[in-house]
Amino acid sequence: MQPFITELTSANVGKVLYNEPLANYTTWKIGGPADVLIIPGGKEQLVKTVKLLHKHGIPWTPIGKGSNMLVTDKGIRGVVIKLGEGMDHIQFTGDEVRVGGAYSFITLSIKAGKEGLAGLEFAGGIPGTVGGAVYMNAGAHGSDVSRILKEAEIVLETGELVRYTTSEMQFAYRHSILQEVKGIVLEATFQLEHGDRKEIAAAMASYKERRRKTQPYQLPCCGSVFRNPPNDFSARLIQEAGLKGYRVGGAEVSTLHANFIVNTGQATARDVLTLIEEIRQTIQSKYGISLVPEVLVVGER
Ligand code: FAD
Repeated sequence: MQPFITELTSANVGKVLYNEPLANYTTWKIGGPADVLIIPGGKEQLVKTVKLLHKHGIPWTPIGKGSNMLVTDKGIRGVVIKLGEGMDHIQFTGDEVRVGGAYSFITLSIKAGKEGLAGLEFAGGIPGTVGGAVYMNAGAHGSDVSRILKEAEIVLETGELVRYTTSEMQFAYRHSILQEVKGIVLEATFQLEHGDRKEIAAAMASYKERRRKTQPYQLPCCGSVFRNPPNDFSARLIQEAGLKGYRVGGAEVSTLHANFIVNTGQATARDVLTLIEEIRQTIQSKYGISLVPEVLVVGER
């Protein structure tokens, strides 16, 4: 690691923090430190960082808003790359929008609506970045990223820049090629449709109201913990199993939405992992269904 740090120090890539607690960078407010956290100053610095990491063979992990990540208590070895300023540009051209990987997915949907562009209404309650949304093929209310993405600009782990079209992204339910091929989304272009501003705003307001009634916004959480099994809903199974309100340490199955786990104050990653395992075992033994986490567990175990 030392030769990398020495070269990094003179490379002027942006903000570099050592032993930085990641609880400050996840919506669960959980997570141990990253050995090194780099917040590149822009695209050029980010590509330079990736090339340096490749040259020195240092493991790295991108992070957006940390709204779908459980970082372990021991934290992440190697480098965590957080996309920030300089990667948050936005440009509307006709019915398309080109937007930086660090841009807020919620703000993007609001702006598109104000421009009278339809297609991103579903994103109004998904609190991640554009890069995280593309990686996850984030979706809600019957739509997802795969329906509107035209292409994504990606830096691969070698430092090579590529542009993947929707079909090259190999989207499936909460899946994209980036879960197999390592890279960072620098920018995404979405193909939207001209629509009626009032209708778009009304759809977004109704989705927001539905979420407000059914999701726990007051406590730190990470959205849905488990993927939905085929033809069923994880929340329904967990609720029916009587697990709402069930706790391990500071982690609790939300009393409002059974597929959410909330941090009631001092939850550790270990608490959440234990709770996830207990839920899985209960659902397996009661219904014979194996729940698969949607939340990504990262870091040293
Ligand atoms: P992170 O959690 O930071 O990262 C997720 C993964 O993406 C990690 O593997 C990370 O390495 C990778 N990644 C991040 N940025 C990049 C990048 N630029 N390039 C390549 N890889 C990257 N999700 C839904 O799909 N639908 C919902 O309705 C929904 N509702 C939610 C509600 C709440 C209250 C919360 C807290 C979460 C919800 N989520 C939902 C989950 C989450 O918001 C999405 O998965 C989101 O797309 C994650 O984006 P992020 O920037 O936070 O990614």
